[in-house]
Amino acid sequence: MSAPGSATSHLMPTYRPAPVRFVSGRGCRLRDDSGREYLDFLSGIAVTSLGHAHPAVAEAIAAQAHELLHVSNLFENALAEEVAARIDRLVGDGTPMDGKVFFANSGAEANAAAIKLARRVGGRGRHEVVSALGSFHGRTLATLHATGQPSKHEGFAPMPEGFRHVAYGDVAALASAADPTRVAAVLLEPIEGEAGVVVPPRGYLAAVRALCDERGILLVLDEIQTGLGRTGRWFAFQDEGVAPDVVTLAKALGNGVPIGACWARAEVADCFTPGDHGSTFGGQPLALSAARATLDTMVALDVPARARARGAQLVASLRSVPGVRTVRGRGLLIGVVLDDGYDAPAVARRALDAGLVVNAPTPDVIRLAPPLVVSEAECDEAVAILRSALAPTAGADESAAPDGPAVQRAGADSERSSR
Ligand SMILES: *Cc1c(COP(=O)(O)O)cnc(C)c1O
Repeated sequence: MSAPGSATSHLMPTYRPAPVRFVSGRGCRLRDDSGREYLDFLSGIAVTSLGHAHPAVAEAIAAQAHELLHVSNLFENALAEEVAARIDRLVGDGTPMDGKVFFANSGAEANAAAIKLARRVGGRGRHEVVSALGSFHGRTLATLHATGQPSKHEGFAPMPEGFRHVAYGDVAALASAADPTRVAAVLLEPIEGEAGVVVPPRGYLAAVRALCDERGILLVLDEIQTGLGRTGRWFAFQDEGVAPDVVTLAKALGNGVPIGACWARAEVADCFTPGDHGSTFGGQPLALSAARATLDTMVALDVPARARARGAQLVASLRSVPGVRTVRGRGLLIGVVLDDGYDAPAVARRALDAGLVVNAPTPDVIRLAPPLVVSEAECDEAVAILRSALAPTAGADESAAPDGPAVQRAGADSERSSR
């Protein structure tokens, strides 16, 4: 079999995948085509929060596949109403908010819906979206421009008009960029996942909320990675005591089945009229059956509480691992910042070789995002593997000489580009 990127592969070379072929999974474990087992602390990038092959989700999908997969949005959809009501209740932390949901197929599409909605609400001339440097909002042209990583824009000019970026966590910078005559929305992640799990200063979101209220600007929170229990609350904004106007979600919503959603307060949502936006597949029964089973199971298991408990355990034990500079994040979205001299992609690769799946969103950070159902023993096991991957004797790369400059190894950016 040829690897993507090789001359004989039929796949476009947008990724440089690690040379492992997973063929099955159960809970927090994956198995490759040689029968080897791995502990999965990436969850397909914060997607399989209930673990692999969760029976409730598998049975829901199978049953739905035998009933009805798809009919389009030209007909009423009871399942969509059910899932939207569940999302609305979770946005309200258990209390219905009377908000409304648009269903899409991915995170980028959920954000694209939010951007169009913001432009609809803002009206002509008030169409700008201000987002943060270091952010990640998707790969379509509009969401790519919203993504505050100029390196990802290179080669794809011209970017769609109407996006500006400011330093993350800096209220003053946002205040000077958020011109109320031009700006429709502020779009932020409550914690920047792809930037290496960057947590803004306490009070940042509340200050942004106050600024948006004062200027009549929508606050759109991208909870695609942070939402649905990952950070120890149903949504990360609930830790900050703010009420967003629009929330986007995707990743964990179908536990692996593609689905995205854009929730908005009713007055905001009602600015859309029939024909303004749409999707052939968005909200189709197959994806919604997975989402309903996922959300019901998440509620039954109280996954935010599990994320808090296991997250506290992981942070406490990771702090004493040699080579770890700091540990940041919330719940089970954890960034392990490595000491100078370590190359995080190389460390992730050594962990993989030792049977632990993690990734390196930046050159000095290992991200941990295990399934929210991970056990105490599995967390201990993961820390032990990371400890060995960080040990000076672990490999022949630069981590053996923590004082020396980081050596750029061939393929060292494969983890980073695996977004
Ligand atoms: C993954 C992610 C997206 C994009 O989701 P896709 O399903 O890949 O389009 C957007 N925002 C955040 C914060 C993400 O983590």
